[in-house]
Amino acid sequence: MNYTIHQIAKITNAQVIGEEKLLIKNIAFDSRIIYSTKNTAFIAINTQKNSGEKFIEAAIDRGIEVVISENYYPQYENITWIIVKNTVVFLQKLAKYHFENAHIKSIGITGSNGKTILKEWLYQCLWNEFTTVKSPKSFNSQIGLPLSLLQINPSHELGIFEVGISEPDEMEKLENIFHPQIGLLTHIGTAHLANFASEEQLIDEKIKLFKNSEVIIYNGDNLLVDSKIKQLYSTKKLITYGFYESNDVHFKNDTLNDKNIVVRYFNEQIIFPVHQRDEATLTNVLALLAVLKELGIRNDRIVEKINALKAVEMRLEAIEGIKSNIIINDSFNLDLDSLKTALQFLKEYNKPKKSLVLTDILGVNSNAEQLYEEVSELVNEQGFDSVFLIGNEISNYSELFKSKIFTYNNTQELIDGKHITEIENQIILLKGARKFEIEKVKDILELRKHDTVLEINLNAILHNINYHKSLLKPTTKMMAMVKANAYGLGSYEISEFLQHHHIDYLGVAFVDEGVELRKKGITVPIVVMNPEQHSYETVIAYNLEPEIYSFRVLELFYEAVQKSGYDKKYPIHIKLETGMHRLGFKDSELDELGSTLAQKNLKVQSIFSHLSSSDLPSEKEFTLLQLEIFERNSSRLIKNLGYTPIRHILNSSGITNYTDHQYDMVRIGIGMLGESQNSEINKQLRSVVSFKTVISQISLVGDGESVGYSRRFKTDHPTKIATIPVGYADGIPRLIGNQVGNVGIHKKFAPIVGNICMDMMMINVDHIPDVKEGDTVTVFNAKPTLKEFAEYCKTITYEVLTSISPRVKRIYVKD
Ligand SMILES: *Cc1c(COP(=O)(O)O)cnc(C)c1O
Repeated sequence: MNYTIHQIAKITNAQVIGEEKLLIKNIAFDSRIIYSTKNTAFIAINTQKNSGEKFIEAAIDRGIEVVISENYYPQYENITWIIVKNTVVFLQKLAKYHFENAHIKSIGITGSNGKTILKEWLYQCLWNEFTTVKSPKSFNSQIGLPLSLLQINPSHELGIFEVGISEPDEMEKLENIFHPQIGLLTHIGTAHLANFASEEQLIDEKIKLFKNSEVIIYNGDNLLVDSKIKQLYSTKKLITYGFYESNDVHFKNDTLNDKNIVVRYFNEQIIFPVHQRDEATLTNVLALLAVLKELGIRNDRIVEKINALKAVEMRLEAIEGIKSNIIINDSFNLDLDSLKTALQFLKEYNKPKKSLVLTDILGVNSNAEQLYEEVSELVNEQGFDSVFLIGNEISNYSELFKSKIFTYNNTQELIDGKHITEIENQIILLKGARKFEIEKVKDILELRKHDTVLEINLNAILHNINYHKSLLKPTTKMMAMVKANAYGLGSYEISEFLQHHHIDYLGVAFVDEGVELRKKGITVPIVVMNPEQHSYETVIAYNLEPEIYSFRVLELFYEAVQKSGYDKKYPIHIKLETGMHRLGFKDSELDELGSTLAQKNLKVQSIFSHLSSSDLPSEKEFTLLQLEIFERNSSRLIKNLGYTPIRHILNSSGITNYTDHQYDMVRIGIGMLGESQNSEINKQLRSVVSFKTVISQISLVGDGESVGYSRRFKTDHPTKIATIPVGYADGIPRLIGNQVGNVGIHKKFAPIVGNICMDMMMINVDHIPDVKEGDTVTVFNAKPTLKEFAEYCKTITYEVLTSISPRVKRIYVKD
């Protein structure tokens, strides 16, 4: 795009405040990823969940001079404002105008699955035929589509855009701004079906995109889709593709076993090799081919282009194996080309020794000898330690291979032979035709899953964040406290997830924690609550923002800033003491603090304090007093500073109990993990963490015998006792042994008996029928809950979580 501010205002009926500035070529909506500010306007998009207006300041800090917003903020100087009623409607109006005046060839892709992959494939096939613009990532929504369309510039000849909907009536709005000449409908599945009355209603909604299309290319295997489109759009050019022979574009041969694939396109036949034969990929190939034909690409070029896609399709997995092996599993298909690719892939690993499992190559009859000669030459060049050949045909040529050779008729023979499980510290490539099912070899070579895990549900974290956000004003920012390894859950994994979901700030306790996040690619602002005084240089080097709580720290940190040569105002966060008596500036220091700060090249990014008892109803009076002191002292400091930083004081229970005092930001911690002291709130939250293990052994302990160190448990009748592989070195306090604590098995409590050992403990399972070795044991969080477990330990949930030893494998799930 390329418009003056007044042109934009005219197109969209907006009001301009401020002077006409440079031409607007880009609209940025995420203040963190503005890569150029020169011809860019920042749009503060308001949605139900979030207000983009809280990012206006950050955008202006980065150099933005034109802001599109629903509200006007006169405090920023030299900014030109485009004031609109509704930012989303604004984007759509502008995009509609822009698209309708662009006159390019356009392809619109909709459907439930496969939109993004088809868009990317089309782009790969077409970029060197036409100057092509496409939606970035999967930008396909009410906001994403307009932003994608606004990327069109006069040099473009073709645009490929995804269009996605999740609710009734959305497509009409999108079709109103974007009417593709070629409409492409991919598979319709059950995604978003829940928001519609029936599949029929979902289809009706999706196909509205094609109202003004000239050609519609769609998957005709869905008969309901087929009849709907034929009924509604009988006057348009319709092209169907799919597995059924009734489709205009379909397969002519056995796609599972034949080497090449033959596609029937109306009366023509097009033949090409494929490298992946799952149904989704094959269907996408048909759709791609139909579009390429429609754009007039010659058959030989189509074959070439589809062939060139294979690199993206190839999916090789590398798996951690038993005995320090690495397993490369490519058990999907086998031909000479894909063997070459897999051998290349092996080179990326630096294990000195390697072995190969290779099967017959199917579909070659006449020149088998020549083929296996070629294969053996290729394999011999790699210097494999052992080569395992499976299948009668390849076994016939075993003397061509120069390594240690084992031959088998089928995969089961290889497994039974056991030679393969003796391999140690090698990389093992499994390469076979699908028929041989060599993924079974993978199953026996794969390192067994960890028995003891701390499972963390990331979507539950998001749910809990959104619940807390729903209590707040949309403009209130949120800092997530990821100190102490994110309460023991893994600070990088949690931070990366939160960054993706647009958390405003992260908070850590020490500098090292912040450095680790930066090194791994976290770019969100990070506040360090207790920066150690020898680490200030590191704070600056890694763009971390320190909490400043005393004059001593202020002076030392400022010295470090000056030494570093940093030439802008360095962001800091001022902590006020309001009753916690931990860290912070006191009442009596505020005037001096104001004048000291005014003389320094520092920017007070925020002023904050911490509540000592926001979770305790009995301390409400004290908490209100803390809030009052904060209000008074922060206002006084702001007056002394002459500008208004962000203010914040609420932690998780503060958010739920003292919502009125949210100021400009809140700091969430335990609430994100689904824990609240308030049982009503707890019901709204989802539990995030569970600590699980499995039973190692079950023994029937005879009457009067003892269990464990120091013989602290003695049976009074023959008793079923299970041993589980967690102990005090995993973070289970020893004080919950001897029947203080329970674990859960088959949804029943089982008491811990005897003393807890370093790596194991014993539990009484006498009352649990059908309990077996290998059964799952819940240390917490179901039965018992994390809170119950904390009660056994006579502590709080925070301490339980942060005490779990790093040797317990953390796994992250998204349900
Ligand atoms: C840890 C911490 C929080 C978060 O507390 P929760 O009770 O877990 O919500 C907030 N602010 C500061 C300063 C903290 O240290």
